[in-house]
Amino acid sequence: MSKPKVAILGLGIMGSGMARRLLSAEVPLAVYNRRREKSAPLAADGASPADTPREAAAQAQIIISMVADDAASRDVWLGENGALAGAAPGSLFIECSTLSCGWIRELAARAAERNCQFLDAPVTGTKPHAASGELVFLVGGSVEALAKARPVFSVLGRETVHLGPVGSGALMKLINNFICGVQAASFAEGLALIDAGGLDRMKAVGILTSGAPGSGIVKRVADRVAASDFAPNFALRWMAKDLSYAIAEGAGKSVSLQTASAALSVFQEAITEGHGDEDFSSVTKSAGRRSP
Ligand code: NAP
Repeated sequence: MSKPKVAILGLGIMGSGMARRLLSAEVPLAVYNRRREKSAPLAADGASPADTPREAAAQAQIIISMVADDAASRDVWLGENGALAGAAPGSLFIECSTLSCGWIRELAARAAERNCQFLDAPVTGTKPHAASGELVFLVGGSVEALAKARPVFSVLGRETVHLGPVGSGALMKLINNFICGVQAASFAEGLALIDAGGLDRMKAVGILTSGAPGSGIVKRVADRVAASDFAPNFALRWMAKDLSYAIAEGAGKSVSLQTASAALSVFQEAITEGHGDEDFSSVTKSAGRRSP
């Protein structure tokens, strides 16, 4: 049986790795990116480049979006020449970006109006996991739609977790990332206090990372700081975005995410200081460094 053609909308850090992985598994692939130049290397390796999301969607049975935020997702699905207008009825839409649950539900309703299936399937894992097919998909949507998506998820990921109806994957991802953001912000402030207190940085960080505070995310930030490597795997501005979506989601359910609010102000300060496009571990450059 021939493999269904897939379209990927968004060839940033994550989308480009996912596209490359699909090509290496010989999955027929159409690609779209707002800035066209990012399509060229994938086209050279066999992908069909599209000028618009509509054109990409018209070529595919499974359409995956991996873009920045709610506004970007709205643009690629519903904008002028958006994917919804090009998709054939019966297509499967998969939204892998980390987005608000409200927008996910609205998008799912628009997909249903077009007689298309919809899954929210944000991911855990970062740049190297996207490239090596080791993502974890957090899925909301119907069992039938998921069955159709599984062959693609099995190329792109090491695990797929079905969490419930549409919106469940998005909610799980926001909870996951707000906890990561809080830990990264508190480690960054801890580092500021280590420096201000004149402790030996290497010894102090070793105690933290080998002890109870040494979570995966804290270790990842500590490694980046030790290597002075702030090239983005996950841009700092997207961590701030995830914290703000999580806070709004909590507020809508009368759950006050006070630690997320505090972490968000730490990340916003880092953006103000010009670190938004760097890796989120750059939060260590500004956190706690200004007098209160
Ligand atoms: P990225 O490298 O910054 O790429 C963002 C993508 O969104 C680019 O393709 C960009 O197009 C596109 N975009 C932005 N605004 C747009 C608009 N208005 N219309 C159309 N396209 C637009 O981000 P990323 O790291 O790949 O992350 C993508 C998504 O995955 C985000 O939701 C992020 O939170 C989530 N995520 C990231 C990671 C990670 O470790 N990086 C892990 C899990 C989840 P241009 O190239 O034209 O700007």
